[in-house]
Amino acid sequence: MSEYSFFDAVCKSFDKAAKFTKYDAGVLEQIKQCNSVLRIHFPVKIGDKIEVIKAYRVQHSQHKLPCKGGIRFSEMVNLDEVMALAALMTYKCAIVNVPFGGAKGGISIDPKKYAAYDLERITRRYTSELIKKKFIGPGEDVPAPDYGTGEREMSWILDTFMAMNPGEVDAMACVTGKPVSQGGVRGRREATGLGVFFGIREVCGMPDIMKKLGLEVGVEGKRVVVQGLGNVGYHSAKFFEEAGAKIVALAEYEGAIYNDDGLDVDAVFQHRKSSGSILNFPGATNFEVSSDALEKECDILIPAALENVINGDNAPRVKAKIIGEAANGPLTPEADEIFIEKGVLVIPDMYLNAGGVTVSYFEWLKNLSHVRYGRLEKRFTENQNAQLLEQMEELTGKKVSRTQKDLMLHGPDEVDLVRSGLEETMINATHEIIDCWRANPEIKDMRTASFVVAINKVGTSYSELGIFP
Ligand code: GLU
Repeated sequence: MSEYSFFDAVCKSFDKAAKFTKYDAGVLEQIKQCNSVLRIHFPVKIGDKIEVIKAYRVQHSQHKLPCKGGIRFSEMVNLDEVMALAALMTYKCAIVNVPFGGAKGGISIDPKKYAAYDLERITRRYTSELIKKKFIGPGEDVPAPDYGTGEREMSWILDTFMAMNPGEVDAMACVTGKPVSQGGVRGRREATGLGVFFGIREVCGMPDIMKKLGLEVGVEGKRVVVQGLGNVGYHSAKFFEEAGAKIVALAEYEGAIYNDDGLDVDAVFQHRKSSGSILNFPGATNFEVSSDALEKECDILIPAALENVINGDNAPRVKAKIIGEAANGPLTPEADEIFIEKGVLVIPDMYLNAGGVTVSYFEWLKNLSHVRYGRLEKRFTENQNAQLLEQMEELTGKKVSRTQKDLMLHGPDEVDLVRSGLEETMINATHEIIDCWRANPEIKDMRTASFVVAINKVGTSYSELGIFP
């Protein structure tokens, strides 16, 4: 049996959509291919041994600069995966109107096997390699967190870049997903999960789509299964819980748990932290085989871990009515076909998990403008609101309660602006994709509609750049 190629799977979805666009084969081929591929090996001394580390950075498209995309630390990292993820970044940015080309990086290590000190040296060495090859820089290529990395790794990258580019005034913008104290933006940590929530909520608010699926409009009361309790899965689950949905199952690699009455997401998170496993959570049923959770009865299934978890084998057994791809590439093209046949709505990754890169864009803008969001207007807005309220009270002769007053007076903080910018972005993207789907009765799924939207935007951009003489 031939091995699964993630990049081929992305290209397959691309080809399916390409026929609904106006571009000829040459233009489509240029959009599809990865423009620049960097594969490096470098030595790092771990203990008293030299280890040779294998790593990558792929820039899929430079139709807009800088290129943008996360850096993944995982033993499973390989060139095919990084190429696929870089390509998805191009389409993702296009869909949410983030003016970047797509990129992705990866280091082929299991971060759990290394001490923080060693990870720091590996990350710094990788960054120096990227600097040497011009695969990082505020106007060239801007990494971010991905599977196996987070704020800590981003601050090591920043520090290495600053040390090697002294005096560069925009150096802060060389990487996003940084801690707030290091130039990060408030709201980045939960951005992908919140974007997943906004995207699914928007689709669940469409009466014709819900009717077709036999579901009520809205997310309240929906039964949700989330696979992966990392940053994306945890926050997606939290936002659904807060909106009144029931998280009936949570899965991690060591197993999964189920409770028909709903699980308390924070309590499960704490339980896993203290016991080292998601299993044996009070009141819940254990599944020793983690993937069994994907097959539980539910309204919304959110795979939020890795690619290729729902494929031709298990897709026929999946009972969810909506699948929200919080991870990149969790479904194979075979699974897609099965879900089209079964009438399951798949909300695709390149749109649904774009919240992370959207807020990364806000962070990059903040770094380039050297000012925190809200700093200039917060007090002005509060003073203006106070005057309005005073006038209202005077005219009506009625007093507004203290709690209401606080709400009405509040000027925007950074996190308020970031979240509302994200909400606006996700809502607009949803409508653009759904409108494209509705306008083309031959398009059978939301992934194809998303690809059509993305290809049209990247194609226009290439043409307007005059790149095809
Ligand atoms: N790694 C995230 C993704 O796959 C975020 C990328 C970014 O913020 O640049 O979308």
